[in-house]
Amino acid sequence: MHQRIDLEQLCADKGLRITEQRRVIARVLSESDDHPDVELLHERANKIDSGISIATVYRTVRLFEEAGILDRHDFGDGRARYEAAPEAHHDHLIDVESGKVIEFVDPEIEALQKQIAAKLGYRLVDHRLELYGVRLDRED
Ligand SMILES: [Zn+2]
Repeated sequence: MHQRIDLEQLCADKGLRITEQRRVIARVLSESDDHPDVELLHERANKIDSGISIATVYRTVRLFEEAGILDRHDFGDGRARYEAAPEAHHDHLIDVESGKVIEFVDPEIEALQKQIAAKLGYRLVDHRLELYGVRLDRED
């Protein structure tokens, strides 16, 4: 489901000034499909360019987020996690034991949310849904 998004191209489209370090961070984000936090991004960016500081990663993700090309998530552990803003909407299920994040789309849930908003007198423009679970086969 996770289609690769070219953040570098999106930066260009948005007219963001792209420095070499930002380019590296954009590439790392585009290639990550696991919703990394800043520390993990920093680690990955450093493998490509060891001169990238954690402060630069913080600044860059904030910049990308403000430009609307990066989504920030909080999956309940108090750490901000990032993913390139997907073209097609999806929701997340978080394995509370391993921290693994699974992406899904369910047409019935999507429709139900629209109905609830309409019932309350609103047209739905966005939503976030996070499910937290433990694997059934791990319970005995
Ligand atoms: Zn996602």
